Amino acid sequence: MKDKKVNSFKNYVYMLRFIFKHTPFMVFGYLFFDVLANLPWTLSNVVLLKYIIDVAVEGEGLYRVAVALVLFVAFVVITNLCTTLFYEVSLPKQREKLYFAIYKTIYEKAAKMDYEAYDNPEYYNDLVLAMNSMNERANAVLSNTQDILTNIIGVFTIGAVIVTIDPVCLIFVVVCVAIMTPIGRLIAKVNVERTEAMTPYDRKNLYFSRVFYLQDYAKELRLSGAGKMIEARYNKNIYDRIKTIAPYLTRQWKLYFCQESLPMTILIYLGITLLMGYKAIVTKEASMGDFAATFNGAASISTSVFAITSQFAINIRENGLFVEKFRKFMNAKEKMVSGNNKRFFEKPPVIKFENVSFKYPGTDKYVLKNINLEISPYKKIALVGYNGAGKTTLTNLLLRLYDVTEGAITLDGVNIKDWDINSYHRNFAAVFQDFSLFGATLGENVSMNDSPDSKKAEKALEAASFDRELPNGTNSILLREFDDDGVSLSGGEAQKIAIARAFYKDCPFAILDEPSANLDPIAEYSLNQSMVKAAESKTVLFISHRLSTTVMADEIYMLENGEIIEHGSHNKLMELDGKYAYMFRLQAEKYMEK
Ligand code: ADP
Repeated sequence: MKDKKVNSFKNYVYMLRFIFKHTPFMVFGYLFFDVLANLPWTLSNVVLLKYIIDVAVEGEGLYRVAVALVLFVAFVVITNLCTTLFYEVSLPKQREKLYFAIYKTIYEKAAKMDYEAYDNPEYYNDLVLAMNSMNERANAVLSNTQDILTNIIGVFTIGAVIVTIDPVCLIFVVVCVAIMTPIGRLIAKVNVERTEAMTPYDRKNLYFSRVFYLQDYAKELRLSGAGKMIEARYNKNIYDRIKTIAPYLTRQWKLYFCQESLPMTILIYLGITLLMGYKAIVTKEASMGDFAATFNGAASISTSVFAITSQFAINIRENGLFVEKFRKFMNAKEKMVSGNNKRFFEKPPVIKFENVSFKYPGTDKYVLKNINLEISPYKKIALVGYNGAGKTTLTNLLLRLYDVTEGAITLDGVNIKDWDINSYHRNFAAVFQDFSLFGATLGENVSMNDSPDSKKAEKALEAASFDRELPNGTNSILLREFDDDGVSLSGGEAQKIAIARAFYKDCPFAILDEPSANLDPIAEYSLNQSMVKAAESKTVLFISHRLSTTVMADEIYMLENGEIIEHGSHNKLMELDGKYAYMFRLQAEKYMEK
């Protein structure tokens, strides 16, 4: 419990420093203008009230009251002018700057993180949480700080006024605070327990919202009974949430009642009224103004102390938990170490796998075992095998998305771990099975940068057999996110665009994972033809389930359970009459049947 509290506070300070680093004026403005906006009212409740009552009771110098009021109003108007200018004009801009800084930091970190981090659900949860809530949390941290500072200043200024009127009143206040603070701590404890008890339900709720807003689930939800099934689980989750939260709420209201009502009512409203009322009315040691000022002042201090303890108890703790996730995400260390060698190869060099074995981080099973292969320049290499054989894993290792567990992969005789990772990646164009198109122009989607060469993009699209005429050619916007008239594409068209990326990029290697999965046989045939032509200057490694595609490969590697079981040209493997030949015939027969 103690540790968690210390961390919460540290997290809170971390976030405040983060905000200050990116938008110092926002922090300064938030604090200064809030104090400026609140102080006149806090003081008027005590000092101005006392002044007016005392002058009025003395029955003279009404003009003094008028002067005081005019001065006060002038002060309020000026502070209003400053604060509205800050809150309405400057703050929104500062806020945008802060959000930009937060997301830039998160995106940069996410892009730098090891790919394997995505296999770790904890990392992924932290990333999602950071993305979804840091804006809100940064604002909350600022307003907590604002609240605390304003209240602390209020407590000290009014405390000073009360001490000058009657120090005994301050004893009531101190006792009241002494009772409120430990109860505040208890509230904090219950609150932490409550947040922790709610975490599993919150996680489930996040899942439910993902199911209902992501397009990935939309088809299934409409066509099957899955919607009802998920809804029933959602209802149960809400029911369980309410059941779990109920005892915490009961404990909390009792504590809040004890914290807020009892000390305030007994010590401030009753105690100070009796004491100062007695002094003002019976012994005449105090004026009526003193009576009103101490009563208002003491109530205001107690409310402020209550607000401060609540901020510490609840908001700082809660924000701290979120900031903790953000910090954990930001501090996560990349395991993959980049080498120093930098080189872009104009012509493809040799790639070798030497006794490569691999198991995914956090798992015990070798999914690749003793892989030895040599990929000579300009060769078209096919990887084939049943699902789960290890084909994608092999390309993942070649692209250094993961590091090998044993053995080595070399490029031009140098271990790929010794190449600078960015420089290494520049040598590869990769098209993945689960490729993504972006809300950008067709040309940009091919070039993958914001200044596409449209002639080159057209050539690459042609090589990938993309033959749909779009209204603005390569300048047509894809997807609807950025343009209501954005082009929607079929699965096959989208895949051809992804393939065109490999032809567009000037680099010695192209890696294609299932390049023809969404294509019909005719498109597949023409893709194969053009792929050979367009990729003449490249070494191409492709994974294919359709063995008709592999006929054009120079070399075929057949994998099974993470091992290479057959290797050679199509003709050689057919002659061998092993598993490849069996699979090929089976597919050919199926195809003929159709
Ligand atoms: P293929 O491409 O031949 O279908 P993969 O390379 O995708 O096969 O998978 C090989 C094996 O590795 C499979 O058993 C699969 O379940 C496992 N695997 C794939 N990705 C991961 C991962 N991120 N974490 C753990 N195991 C994985």
